[in-house]
Amino acid sequence: MKYHVLEKEQLNCFIKSLAKKMKVVAPISKGHGNYVFGEVKSADEISLNYVPTILPPKKYFMPTKEKMLDFDLSGKEPKDTAALDLEEIAIFGVHTCDLAGIQCLNIVFNERPRDYNYLLRKEKLFIIGLECNKYCDEYASCTLVNSHLPNGGYDLFFTDLGDRFLINVNTQKGEDFVESIDLPKAEPKDMTALEKLREEKKKIFRNEIDVDPKKIPEMLDKVYNSKLWEKVGEKCLSCGNCTNVCPTCYCFDMEDFINLDLKTGYRLRTWDSCQFETFATVAGGENFRSQRSMRQRHRVYRKFKFPVDKFNRFFCTGCGRCSRTCMAGINLKEILKEVAEESKF
Ligand code: SF4
Ligand code: SF4
Repeated sequence: MKYHVLEKEQLNCFIKSLAKKMKVVAPISKGHGNYVFGEVKSADEISLNYVPTILPPKKYFMPTKEKMLDFDLSGKEPKDTAALDLEEIAIFGVHTCDLAGIQCLNIVFNERPRDYNYLLRKEKLFIIGLECNKYCDEYASCTLVNSHLPNGGYDLFFTDLGDRFLINVNTQKGEDFVESIDLPKAEPKDMTALEKLREEKKKIFRNEIDVDPKKIPEMLDKVYNSKLWEKVGEKCLSCGNCTNVCPTCYCFDMEDFINLDLKTGYRLRTWDSCQFETFATVAGGENFRSQRSMRQRHRVYRKFKFPVDKFNRFFCTGCGRCSRTCMAGINLKEILKEVAEESKF
């Protein structure tokens, strides 16, 4: 493992050097305790202490709206070129929960048939993680799902050691950049400080709901027909906010738009949500999840059961966004606690 050190007063030089090579985005404050990833030109604009941004960095990997191709049905000159807009972007300050979210998306979009739009865009992104030394707020459950510590998925990773950042270099891209700005190597005292910080973190970051995470899929098996889902479904507004803000939700819709000439047009991909009533409607009008209770149950199983069966990992990173954003006050940690309670019987 390679480590370098950046004095805090040098952060501005670091960001400016990066901005000379590519667009830099980082967490910025929008007021009232809200943060978003947005473009920055200097370190002064960045909020280093932030609760998870309204939207996770997935918006740079899979835009909310994306034109997939233009088509021409006139028969003269077939046109089916994908209009892919690629931009080199450095995403600075990505918390470990969001790094875990990116890793989940990487798994899904690498499955066959591969999603080349996602994969090509990902190649252009330079990811710089930032360790949380304290909890963001009461909605987080990163320790439960073990995403409170860095576990790969970044080019560089920053840990705040007080007067300086310790930087873990994880990829060749990361190494090339660090070398280009001549960052000093870490010394033994820096590594000792990192060990001490991680020990301190053990006291702060504790399993938030006191449930053994390994048992969650098994617990869910037992409560599939529980009244719990009806209770949650009665509160749910089907707005889809919880899935839109989720770093691991990736469902999308495809729609073709025809121009006025009735011959040319384009295909648009937009984010979709399993919480919308029409999501599971198929030809003939059958809807496999017509009730809100069914859709809420599906959301929880899509995070803690199905991906464990398929990929051997949770697709919840504990970021807390779904609960933080829900206008109906539906709280994922409370649902999991009830699941644990009910599955005992
Ligand atoms: S954000 Fe809340 S109300 Fe909206 S769909 Fe999700 S759980 Fe339902
Ligand atoms: S389910 Fe909720 S807490 Fe889990 S990753 Fe998605 S938004 Fe974050």
